[in-house]
Parts: sequence; structure tokens; C-alpha cells
Amino acid sequence: MREAGKIAGGARALAASLCRPGMSMLDVDRKVHAYITHHKATPSFLNYGGFPNSVCISINDVVIHGIPSERRFKEGDIVSIDVGACYKGFHGDCADTVPVGEVSDEAKKLIEVTRQSFFEGLKMAVAGKRLGDISNAIGTYAQSFGYGVVEKYVGHGIGRSLHEDPPVPNFGRAGRGLLLRDGLALAIEPMINAGTPDVYVDEDKWTVHTADARLSAHYENTVVIMGDEPIITTLAE
Ligand code: MG
Repeated sequence: MREAGKIAGGARALAASLCRPGMSMLDVDRKVHAYITHHKATPSFLNYGGFPNSVCISINDVVIHGIPSERRFKEGDIVSIDVGACYKGFHGDCADTVPVGEVSDEAKKLIEVTRQSFFEGLKMAVAGKRLGDISNAIGTYAQSFGYGVVEKYVGHGIGRSLHEDPPVPNFGRAGRGLLLRDGLALAIEPMINAGTPDVYVDEDKWTVHTADARLSAHYENTVVIMGDEPIITTLAE
């Protein structure tokens, strides 16, 4: 899990560095694919449920599952990168949202709060707490800024499969749900909208948009519960 996470985390960092004006979504996808395979891993998303690429790239009002195309990034865009790698049978999954050049204050704030909401959830990712403690911490934090917490899509368990039980919502009641125990691996991934939490799926059957066309941000790491010090596998590198 650590090795898979390190590759996924490296792929995310590479992708983030490529989100510059003039670069295309497919440029990023090709380079990330090469990075993952160079590290003797396979891209977890490629062909997953028929997904055609190695990275999900979601721009501005796209929440998740954006399909790379020839579209080029432009100054002011915010770009969410979501990437997974499978190494020796285990997966790492992570995401980040990055600004292209100078972005609006609204966009900066959304990115910052989304990232911090993950770390608020992480504080609860300790043995003896419950899944609802993580969910509640994320949702409460994001909502305190008036943001919409996406409910239709959630985080997940992860290990030998990319998506495993339990679902990890970004909202919920503290003190409820699965008891967290050492070794439980979770992909914790707040998806936070500037406006309404409501979303819809594009006619391409993948791309998820905000219902009000306002911005959305995403941040994710693969986390393994280990006593009171969770391991973040995808931060390495
Ligand atoms: Mg995930």
C-alpha cells in the first residue's frame, strides 16, 4: 500500500506541475500514464468501468470524473487531478485541485478549504473513533464556509481493489458508523462545491458537473488507520 501510494502521489505531483496555461488535458494524461508505468505500476483508472484514460481531470464546474481531451488549460482555471496506481496488487488513490496561473479569490478559498477539510477529517482517522467522526469533521468544516458538500459521490475503502467497502461520506453524524481499527485503508476525498451540493452527470456518462455551474474542488489521499497516527500513503514523494 505504501509503495502504490508513493507512485500515485508522485503521479499527482507530476500532474499538478503540468497544469499550466497552454498544456492540454491529454498532455497531462500521457505524461502521468508514462510515469506510472515507468514505476512498474498500472493506472488504476484506465479501463475501470470503461473509463478511457489514466487520470480524471475536472476543470472549474466539473466535480469529478472529467475525461481528458485536447482542451487546453487557461489562466484562471482550477483543475482537479485524480489519479490511482496499482502496484503489486495494491492500490493508491489521490486527488488535488490546483490553480492555473492567477485565479480568483473565491477559487483560492475553495481550494484551501477543501484541502483543509480533508485534514479535519484526518484528525478523526484514529483507532477507536468511528467512520461518522471522519465524515462529520469534513462536512462540518466545509459547511461552516457556506459551501456545498457533495453527497452523491463519496470516498471509499481501498486495498486490493480500487473501491472497497466501506463508503466514506463527506457528511454524517459523529459517533456513528464503522469502528476504526488498525489496518483499515480508506480513500478520504472531500468534494466541495462553492454553491449547491447538487450535481449532474454529463451526456458522456462520466463528467460530473455542479448543478449551478459554480466551482468545485476535490482533495484526496489514501489513509491507513494505525493507532492515533494514521499513515497517508499518497503523500510520499
Ligand atoms: Mg477515490
